[in-house]
Amino acid sequence: MFSKSELADLLRLRGTDQADLFAQASIERDNRLGPFAVLRGVVEVTNVCRVDCEYCPMRRSNLRMNDRFTLEADSIVAQAQEVVASGINVIFLQGGETPAVMVHVEEAIRRLRAEFQDTVEILLNLGSLGPDRYQRLRAAGADSYILKHETGDPALHLRTRRETLDDRLSELEALKSEGFSVGTGIISSLPGQTFESIVDDLILMHELDVDMCSVSPFIPAPNTPLSECPQGDVDLALNAMSILRLMNPGILLPSVSALEKIRPGGQVQGFNAGANVMTINFSSKTTRDRYLIYGKNRYVVSGDHAFNSLTEAGLTPRGSLLVGSDLD
Ligand code: SAH
Repeated sequence: MFSKSELADLLRLRGTDQADLFAQASIERDNRLGPFAVLRGVVEVTNVCRVDCEYCPMRRSNLRMNDRFTLEADSIVAQAQEVVASGINVIFLQGGETPAVMVHVEEAIRRLRAEFQDTVEILLNLGSLGPDRYQRLRAAGADSYILKHETGDPALHLRTRRETLDDRLSELEALKSEGFSVGTGIISSLPGQTFESIVDDLILMHELDVDMCSVSPFIPAPNTPLSECPQGDVDLALNAMSILRLMNPGILLPSVSALEKIRPGGQVQGFNAGANVMTINFSSKTTRDRYLIYGKNRYVVSGDHAFNSLTEAGLTPRGSLLVGSDLD
């Protein structure tokens, strides 16, 4: 593996040295998993949140400011059916952190599992809900859960999320204990984040021994305490992604929409840097407009954009790595 100083050097590479790093990471991906990218279809289930993350416009402090929604099971199922009808077999349910969404999500998962049996992966990203709820979600039929640690710097974590890093990490362990396939990830260039802490994050993400990892460059979102901060450094994020690929060759590593938002073509670069996942948005127009994750001007990934990006990166779309029948 790499030493801390080697990791720092790799994060700083630019120009032809950076291109070499990307090439190595892509070769690692292709050798391990083939030149494929897994497609996910995301349905945004609620914009209500009890956490007060300084980077997110859906934070609790803005509760009264935004037009709030929580989808009922019928709507979640209908939108998830569209995901499957389009040929994607990863149903990704994402939302703010609120126990109120549980009843709807749980029922939707049960119905989707009954309808699609073992031909779909049901992936969740709903924040810290505690072991009992994880157990119920797993029993309903969910397969996988992403709970990013966002930053492994304990003081910065507490300051930006108003919650402790230890809590977030113990929730991730609880998810593993329930048998979920799990993912973590960071926001890079988060205001106040040091270069050294990103090096530590890369080591932590390896030690957490997860199936999915991600790096999302910081987007200064309106109506947040960080709205005037500079946007994230895309090259730093891309280098971190390549390093993750080299350290964890079999990982699912998304090329996230935040890359595209800051730099058009950023998601193709993400694939060239070793990514192998892309998420297409299937939320309805009305909920999509109210899901203010990066503010109103976020980059919403369409099927066409995904297809074009994959083609440009020389990758072929494929289904979930978790769904056995899809592996041959
Ligand atoms: N409420 C869930 C889902 C959060 S949204 C949870 O807490 O896990 C999904 C991801 O978007 C977050 O985990 C975070 O990494 C990323 N994100 C949110 N706001 C961001 C911003 N302003 N810049 C970059 N990434 C952001």
